[in-house]
Amino acid sequence: MARLHLHPGKERSVLRRHPWIFAGSVVRLEGRARPGDTVEVVSADGRMLGRAAWSPASQIRARMWTFEAETTIDHAFFKRRVAEAVAWRMAYPGLSGQDGMRLIHGEADGLPGVIADRYGPVVVVQLTSAGAEKWREAIVGALVAATGCEAIYERSDSDVRRLEGLEPRSGCLFGDLPAAPVLIVEHGVRMEVDIVGGHKTGFYLDQRDNRLLTSRLAAGRRVLNCFCYTGGFSLQALAGGAQSVLSIDSSGPALEIAARNLTYNPSLDASRAQWREDDVFAALRALRSAGEHFDLIVLDPPKFAPSAAHAARAARAYKDINLCAFRLLAPGGILMSYSCSGGIGLDMFQKIVAGAAVDAGVDACILHRLAAASDHPVGLAAPEGEYLKGLALRIGSAAQERVRPDQEQD
Ligand code: SAH
Repeated sequence: MARLHLHPGKERSVLRRHPWIFAGSVVRLEGRARPGDTVEVVSADGRMLGRAAWSPASQIRARMWTFEAETTIDHAFFKRRVAEAVAWRMAYPGLSGQDGMRLIHGEADGLPGVIADRYGPVVVVQLTSAGAEKWREAIVGALVAATGCEAIYERSDSDVRRLEGLEPRSGCLFGDLPAAPVLIVEHGVRMEVDIVGGHKTGFYLDQRDNRLLTSRLAAGRRVLNCFCYTGGFSLQALAGGAQSVLSIDSSGPALEIAARNLTYNPSLDASRAQWREDDVFAALRALRSAGEHFDLIVLDPPKFAPSAAHAARAARAYKDINLCAFRLLAPGGILMSYSCSGGIGLDMFQKIVAGAAVDAGVDACILHRLAAASDHPVGLAAPEGEYLKGLALRIGSAAQERVRPDQEQD
């Protein structure tokens, strides 16, 4: 097995069990290794630190599979890791009753570059590192054994594969996809998952618990759901008794699924739902010009800052939509505002939203700090894995007092 030698001091992060070894930490590779091959990682003073997958095309030159000198990387290793990831979720009370669930969340499950999401009878996998690509057969076999699923479908069409020198791949790896659309039940609401053509692996499972919170807050409120995709927050708001729900997204295909989702849930009052295919930035301005107001607004935009390098431009976009949303909220209204940008941390996001509130002339307080659901855990040793953050804010009526001093407040 080839040996990867690190510069002096660069073993420190590995000893703290951080799984990434960057190009700048590497002195040399002793021996030969192809992309994805397992290499031994060695500190400058010759200590064996564990085994990693070699990825010469990536800035992350190696990703640790194990920090134990005795552990061999073979089929049995993947069987164990996959089985553990699936088993703890199945037994975890916080996830009980969910048939749509992330089963493997990369680094946090000790499987860098491996994502697996379960949607009823189907498991969708995404392999985004050279090491995961090399062991695809072992990973798929282990998933079949651990889940008893009918089919495994690959959605390795994410751009991040290119950073590892890998081409996009998608298609069935095991069994056949069901002929009928795949439906999951999320907190009592049935949702269609577009496994082949949807975003990510088909659905935004990470927002599951935040959708439930929306449902709990929605009773009697006029709701605006921006960047609604297939209507996850919209249907939960209806389930929670919203007076009306206006949902906006720029994707026609996503809105078609959203409309179908209403038909799968006949107990929801479809007459309270309105879908609008539009650019949210423009739509928010049009709603303001039209003098509209809402009592609950959800902002769940796409990743504006994939890395810290895009943070400044992304910050302007976040500020813009949050400012517009604050202006559309009625006194006592609630804003649920999210960012899934890895390049923007919670502190920075909170500052951006605070700036938007000042510019909008509203007083706001934080009711909840929100994150991804527990099937998307964050490794304590690798906090970069945390990407989704959110704030649920209530705005007071001070702005209204200033604007309409003649009117009585209650
Ligand atoms: N809230 C959704 C997930 C949102 S993902 C859920 O719970 O499932 C982000 C969504 O933003 C995608 O559906 C994408 O089509 C949409 N989108 C991206 N840019 C947009 C824009 N400028 N205006 C409107 N929608 C946009």
